[in-house]
Amino acid sequence: MYVRFWGVRGSIAAPLTNEALSAKIEAAVKLALKAGLTDDWQVSEFIKELPWHVRQTAGGDTACIEIQAGGKLLILDAGTGFRRLGLDLIQRSMGSPIEAHILITHTHWDHISGIPFFAPAFMPDNALTFYSPYSGLEDRLNHQQNPEYFPVPLAPAFKFVHLNERERFQIGDVTVETFPLNHPGGSYSYRITQDDKMFIYATDSEYQGLSADSLKPFADFFNGADLLIFDAQYTMLENVEKENWGHSNVFTGIDMALEAGVKRIAFTHHEPAYDDEKLGEILHKAKEYLNINQPEAGLQLYLASEGFSMTL
Ligand SMILES: [Zn+2]
Ligand SMILES: [Zn+2]
Repeated sequence: MYVRFWGVRGSIAAPLTNEALSAKIEAAVKLALKAGLTDDWQVSEFIKELPWHVRQTAGGDTACIEIQAGGKLLILDAGTGFRRLGLDLIQRSMGSPIEAHILITHTHWDHISGIPFFAPAFMPDNALTFYSPYSGLEDRLNHQQNPEYFPVPLAPAFKFVHLNERERFQIGDVTVETFPLNHPGGSYSYRITQDDKMFIYATDSEYQGLSADSLKPFADFFNGADLLIFDAQYTMLENVEKENWGHSNVFTGIDMALEAGVKRIAFTHHEPAYDDEKLGEILHKAKEYLNINQPEAGLQLYLASEGFSMTL
């Protein structure tokens, strides 16, 4: 099972600013002066050793993840990252029809605003099916493309499948299951299993109470995942200040992953106000927390970033 992140920002797209780019260049040049680089051939090695927040960016596009499993293409959420995925799919397909199964967690803008810009929807041979437990998903997406807000109506190529709140179904030999999360207006987690690999997408969720009992239903659903993608929009302090805003943090994610025997956790839905340095600090603190609590668990931690991929 192959997983690739196309959009990892929460709430609203937040592209890298000119100021942030200049700060990265300045930091890199200062480190290069300290390192005393003298030859061109040293540069690429030096860049590889730069701190993550200087060398890279988490990216500004909102929620979209690509999964390739059992010969099927599944897409989780259709935020602004969905636009670039669409362009990439057209290039990759080299004129062959594209079949995509698009699982929508909920219809907040950061999860659907790429849909009007998804170029494969305007090619009639493509088979593009949306799945969600919202019975009115098609109406909601039509609203998004009401002429008052967008000049082109929802592409007729899209098909819709309505799921139950806790449903298990097949896409080829891929098993997909849904589970409700705590979020204003609702949100759903998806568990995707193929062969012996299990992937969980659990974005836009707040875990209240944090007792073993209150976490248990979620831990049961996440149990044994090879990869859990987890909403960690806030720091712990902000999560307390923003109670009922429907998001979580890295520490809750680690507790949950340990409870559920998860192998890898990738933190996503990054707060748009956080820059790469802050996101790097959050991952660093998460690693410290894991090392203090249960280093022997072997849980691997990742910060989701655009273009980051892994094969389970
Ligand atoms: Zn969101
Ligand atoms: Zn949301």
